[in-house]
Amino acid sequence: MKTIVVKFGGTSLASAEQIRKVADIVLADPARRFMVASAPGKRTSDDIKVTDLLYRCYDEAASGADFSGTLAQIESRYADILAGLGVEFDLASEIAVLREHLAGTPQRDYMASRGEYLNAKIIAAFLGRPFVDPAETIFFTESSALDEERTFKALGERLRALDAAVIPGFYGVLPDGTIHTFSRGGSDITGSIAAQAARADLYENWTDVSGMLSADPRVVETPHVIDHITYTELRELSYMGASVLHEDAVFPVRKAGIPINIRNTNRPGDRGTMIVPWADRTARKRVVTGVAGRKGFTSIAIEKSMMNAEIGFTARLLTILAEHGVAFEHCPSGIDTISVVVNTEAFQKARDEILIAIQKELEPDAMTVEDGLAMLAVVGRGMVYSKGTAARIFKALADANINIRMIDQGSSELNIIVGVEEHDYEEAVRAIYRAMEPLL
Ligand code: ADP
Ligand code: ASP
Ligand code: MG
Repeated sequence: MKTIVVKFGGTSLASAEQIRKVADIVLADPARRFMVASAPGKRTSDDIKVTDLLYRCYDEAASGADFSGTLAQIESRYADILAGLGVEFDLASEIAVLREHLAGTPQRDYMASRGEYLNAKIIAAFLGRPFVDPAETIFFTESSALDEERTFKALGERLRALDAAVIPGFYGVLPDGTIHTFSRGGSDITGSIAAQAARADLYENWTDVSGMLSADPRVVETPHVIDHITYTELRELSYMGASVLHEDAVFPVRKAGIPINIRNTNRPGDRGTMIVPWADRTARKRVVTGVAGRKGFTSIAIEKSMMNAEIGFTARLLTILAEHGVAFEHCPSGIDTISVVVNTEAFQKARDEILIAIQKELEPDAMTVEDGLAMLAVVGRGMVYSKGTAARIFKALADANINIRMIDQGSSELNIIVGVEEHDYEEAVRAIYRAMEPLL
C-alpha cells in the first residue's frame, strides 16, 4: 500500500473546527497513515500561538513570577478544542503535570514541546489512532544534532508495526533523557523525518496557503503558486526567508528521494506545490522560480591596501568570526576590500570582541560596520540558461530609487542576492517581483 506522511501546521490545528477539516483530509485517503501535528496556532491575526504561551509561561516560572494566568490560557485553548470535538480526555491531569513541572526547575524546551504533545494526543484520541511519542523515537546527540541513524531505526521500527499513528512535531530527546526542540517551525522537520523513517511515497505538508508562493504574500499582493520546485531551489528560498517550510525540512526526504507536496487545509482541492529532486519535463519552464528575503543583517567592510597579496587574509577574518560562534552569510570582495555579511543577532553577542580582534590581527586601513541590512534572493534553476536576469533586477531597483548595498551570485547561478537597506526591503521585493513577473 502507498504511504503518505501528512504534517499539519499550527493554523490548520488552531481550533476544533480546523481539526475537523484536518480529519476529513486525513480520512479521505487511506494512504495518509501517519500524521505529524503542530501545536494550536493563531485562530485570528491577533491571537497567540500556544507555543508562544508556553514560552511565556516558562519565562514567568523561571523568573519566579506568577504563571497561573498564562497556564489557564493554555488550558482554555485545549478545553475549547476538546469541547468542540467532543473528545473524552483528562486535560486536568495533563495541566497538573505542567503546573508541578513549572513549580520545580522548569525546562524551556520541555515546556515548549507540550504544545504539540497535547495537541497530538487529543487528535489521536479524536481519530482513534495510536499516539507515537518522539520522546521515545526521535533522538538528538549530546551536541543537540539529530541522531539520524538512531532515529531512523527507532521511528522506522515503531511506524512499521502500526497501520496509522499521530506524532507530535517539534521535539525529540537528548541522550540524558531531557526533551529538546528543533528551532521554531520545526514540526516541518519532524514530518520529513517521519516520511523518511516510514519510507513514505509522499510527504504532504498542509498549511494555510496553497503552496510555495513566488513571493511572500505579506509583502506582494497575490503572488502566484509555484507548481514544481526542486529541493535545491526550495532550500535557497526557505533559507532566504520564504517561511512556508522550515529550511532544514528538506534534508531527510531529500536523502530518501521522497517528494514534498505543500497543500492548503482550507482549500484541499488545490494541488499545491510539488517539491521534487529535479524538475521533470512536465514542469513549466521558467527562468525565475521565486523571490524571498529577510531583514536583520550587518555588514563589516574592511579596506587594506595590498590585501590581495596577503595570503590567508580572508581565512583569518572568517576564523575570527568562527571563533566567536558567528557564521558568515556572504563575503563579497574587491582587490583591496572585503566585506562579510553576518546575522545581526548572532554578531551582537560578540560584537566588540570581534571588532577588536579584527583590528589587532588584520590591521585594516579602514573598517566600517553597518547594521540594518536586508538580503533579497531571486532564485531559479532557469537563470543559468538565460541572459539579462541580473540587468532586470538592477534596473527594477534603480527605477524604484533603491540603493543596492551588496550583490552576490552563487556560482551555480541558481540565485542572485542583493543587499538593500531594511527600510527599502518591502519596496525592493515588490519592484523585483514586478520586474520578474514575465519570467515567473
Ligand atoms: P504552519 O503553521 O502551517 O507551519 P507557517 O506560518 O509556518 O505555517 O507558514 C505558512 C506561512 O508562510 C504563510 O501563511 C505565509 O504567510 C508565509 N510565507 C512567507 N513566504 C511565503 C512563500 N514564499 N510562500 C508561501 N508562504 C509564505
Ligand atoms: N509549534 C512550533 C512553533 O510554533 C513548531 C511548529 O509549529 O512547527 O514554532
Ligand atoms: Mg511552519
